[in-house]
Amino acid sequence: MSSPLRVTIWNEFIHERLLPQVSAIYPQGIHGTIAAALRQKLGDAVQLRTATLDQPEHGLDAATLDSTDVLLWWGHAAHDRVDDSLVERVQRRVWQGMGLIALHSAHNSKIFRRLMGTSCTLRWREAGERERLWVVDPSHPIADGLSEEYFELRHTEMYGEFFDIPAPDEIIFISWFEGGEVFRSGCTFRRGKGKIFYFRPGHETFPIYHDANVQRVLANAVQWAAPSGSAYFGAGRNIVEPLSPIDSSHVVDPSLHKSK
Ligand code: ZN
Repeated sequence: MSSPLRVTIWNEFIHERLLPQVSAIYPQGIHGTIAAALRQKLGDAVQLRTATLDQPEHGLDAATLDSTDVLLWWGHAAHDRVDDSLVERVQRRVWQGMGLIALHSAHNSKIFRRLMGTSCTLRWREAGERERLWVVDPSHPIADGLSEEYFELRHTEMYGEFFDIPAPDEIIFISWFEGGEVFRSGCTFRRGKGKIFYFRPGHETFPIYHDANVQRVLANAVQWAAPSGSAYFGAGRNIVEPLSPIDSSHVVDPSLHKSK
């Protein structure tokens, strides 16, 4: 049996402690609800940890990050309180192959914006409207097990286009909202050797992470984002000794580069 996937769920964990209507929905915090869902769906296939903003190094010290295969990120009110040095470390880990799942308002987190290189801004509205998430890539493993062409969330915060992200590698879900907007709700990206999934649902005042379809998608995404493929060779290297002899007799001045 292969060793379990090491999954860390990061939550800024602010709204749940400040607002009774949020703690009523997420008494163990959003990270606690997501952890319980992944435990129930994936069992022994995952080893789960949680981390929060107020812990030393935001709960993501080097040892924790280095032993994380997939990191889930939920932040909303305190993106600016995340240390730049941590953002740097997370980016490096993604390049090395760690999967990253950015949830809902993490579109505006430092780490997601850093990895995208764009503003990641969007339209939004808090009116508790209905959202219909259409599956537009039914063969994708992140959509595994969804039984209909779309699923719905009764009350949501609306996110609308234009969502200022680079063209995704894949779009798996497109949302329609009762108020008229549409949104690319499930997108994948690759950076270095790492896989990134952005998943839109998740406003803290609605029980989104208790939804069975949302939980299914998260469990699928964790498995999809797991490190895979060959080793990572992302450091620039000057290869002085060629692997095989080079015939440079026809080159006028092979030493040109040496002046650098
Ligand atoms: Zn929100």
